[in-house]
Amino acid sequence: MIFDKFCWFKEKGMKRILLKILTLALIAGIFACASSSGLKFNPGTYQGTAAGFGGDITTEVTVDAGRILSIKIVSQNDTPEISKEAFDRIPKAIISGQTLAVDTVSGATFSSDGIINAVTAALQKSGVDIAALKNRKPGAGEAVQLVSKSDSADVVVIGAGGAGLSAAVSAHQNGAKVIILEKMTKAGGNTINCGTAYNTADPARQAAVSMTDAHRASIQQLITKSPAHSPFETELQQTVKKQYDEFVASGKPGIFDSPEWHMLQTYNGGDYLGKPELIRVLAGNSLATLEWLQSNGMEWTNDIWTVLGALWPRTHRPVKPLGTGFIETNLKYLEAQKDRVVILYDTKATELIVQNGRVTGVKATAPGVDYTFTATKGLVIATGGFSANKEMRQKFNTQWPNLDNASSTNHTGATGDGIIMAEAIGANLVGMEWIQLLPMGDPKTGSLSGNIEQGVEDRFFVNKNGDRFMNEAGRRDDMTKALFAQPDAWMWVICDSQSYPTPQVKNNFNESIEELINAGRAFGGNTIEELASKIGVPAANLRKATDDFNAGVAAGKDSFGRSLWRIKIDKPPYYAGARIPTVHHTMGGIEINTDTQVINKSGQIIPGLYAAGEATGGIHGANRLGGNAVADIHTFGRIAGANAALAR
Ligand SMILES: Cc1cc2nc3c(=O)[nH]c(=O)nc-3n(C[C@H](O)[C@H](O)[C@H](O)COP(=O)(O)OP(=O)(O)OC[C@H]3O[C@@H](n4cnc5c(N)ncnc54)[C@H](O)[C@@H]3O)c2cc1C
Repeated sequence: MIFDKFCWFKEKGMKRILLKILTLALIAGIFACASSSGLKFNPGTYQGTAAGFGGDITTEVTVDAGRILSIKIVSQNDTPEISKEAFDRIPKAIISGQTLAVDTVSGATFSSDGIINAVTAALQKSGVDIAALKNRKPGAGEAVQLVSKSDSADVVVIGAGGAGLSAAVSAHQNGAKVIILEKMTKAGGNTINCGTAYNTADPARQAAVSMTDAHRASIQQLITKSPAHSPFETELQQTVKKQYDEFVASGKPGIFDSPEWHMLQTYNGGDYLGKPELIRVLAGNSLATLEWLQSNGMEWTNDIWTVLGALWPRTHRPVKPLGTGFIETNLKYLEAQKDRVVILYDTKATELIVQNGRVTGVKATAPGVDYTFTATKGLVIATGGFSANKEMRQKFNTQWPNLDNASSTNHTGATGDGIIMAEAIGANLVGMEWIQLLPMGDPKTGSLSGNIEQGVEDRFFVNKNGDRFMNEAGRRDDMTKALFAQPDAWMWVICDSQSYPTPQVKNNFNESIEELINAGRAFGGNTIEELASKIGVPAANLRKATDDFNAGVAAGKDSFGRSLWRIKIDKPPYYAGARIPTVHHTMGGIEINTDTQVINKSGQIIPGLYAAGEATGGIHGANRLGGNAVADIHTFGRIAGANAALAR
């Protein structure tokens, strides 16, 4: 019936009703009547089986002569929390794109590959050309027309990641009709794969965190640093000193924090290359943004932790795993506004349109359709960074050795499109040479999946000789440089049962330690010596490294200058997971002002054009603090949407 309805709507030209249906573009089969795929199948229903994460996955695939019609999961044994998204999305992506070339779901790679392989096994029985299906561009030939080829909205947003969806929600809340363009077949970008870490000073939640002498020393070090780099730093030093003195005098529980202390650490951690006014917006509004997300339905835990390179325990954790809470909250809001908001997937923005010096719209392309969208009030670029664009990395990188063969934590769509489009119409780019690498990549894929650290305080690192070699609580760039200097640029993260009180406890990427061990991606031992033997490092060295670390916990300091301590690693079982350097984040991008308006090469505002998220530059300077990006993208996305909606 749904196919008949779709075609009827199309024939009758009932665009608005059609939009309501097609905004739910992942509904399997809706696309099927739009056109033939050009593929040939022997009609029927076929079963196929392949290995998933927890055992075999069996699928049942129904095809007619020219299309994949449905995919049913007959049986599977994968962990629901990890694999749910893969089981939800991948069959729909295969059907909507009529292709096997679909993205895997980060954090659920084994399940994703298992589903694709099981569908492939079933389709092999249908006589279709599997190689053609695997090489087929998602959606190729599916001429689906969602809106008219030259539609208009108050606000057009490019990119349905964290920044883009927040911009869209905020634009709608400020009265705008919004069109969102997303080049992938799903929303989320890097944000949906993120490690949950969101930084903001939040005295209520931070009241539960203990303050150590090492924390106190860190504050003293930055507020007394002389000479100050700029009047901004002097002002922050004075404000933080006053706030800290008041905090100590008050006898309040918990750890000291304030937006200004967050600003000072962000400014210092980025080598004073971040723009003061943007740092002020980020740290000054991140708590309000957290509360805004909450008001839209997002749930937060009360946990405060320190993500890698955050330098201070102000990292917040959503209830939902990875970045799913951010994306689901915004998507749920937007999908409920179907008369005012349209999301077009598989639709890539290609060129900004400028008329009389003002950005008035964007050209975009979807399989079989070219669009020209007009933004009557404002256009927001929220296309993310360029960590997955090797040529662009090579072009701008001055900080690292050759990154040509470096792996990345990013999704494949992080190719800097918005930066390129903006520069083409005269936008200024800032900080493009600052590319963040993490010492935390999976040795096979470079992804963050499989990272066993639960928080900076609760683990240390050793190299292949079993020796500690760095301040594991330091800046991300310093840590990665230290790792590059180790044998094979390889290290082991070491923690104990305090990070994983039960085998079912999960890491920040929604994987339990039990699953990681079963998959050969982490190792456990009841003694340090047993763990050493499992990971092939000299037992005496790993014992010495552990003893050194534990002595550091007792003393609150060590020879590496580590400043964040909490627990001794002395409660078996002990765990280890391997890590290598990986490209993670691009700090540079489009120059914006505090209203997120894009600035041209002469320092002037480009009318009609806004940008937010990792596509922008100038906030983080030379090194981004861990946990600052997710706060940045939602804060600036929210501002961009409101300003675009309210523009004249
Ligand atoms: C694995 C991982 C873990 C991370 N964990 C954390 C963390 O815990 N805390 C933290 O602070 N930071 C983290 N980061 C960094 C942070 O997640 C990113 O900086 C942030 O999500 C970027 O958000 P964004 O909205 O700017 O871009 P994205 O979320 O990447 O969204 C951009 C969207 O634009 C789309 N797009 C691109 N080009 C086009 C085009 N031409 N037309 C249409 N659409 C287009 C993309 O497909 C994508 O959907 C992590 C990053 C990764 C990769």
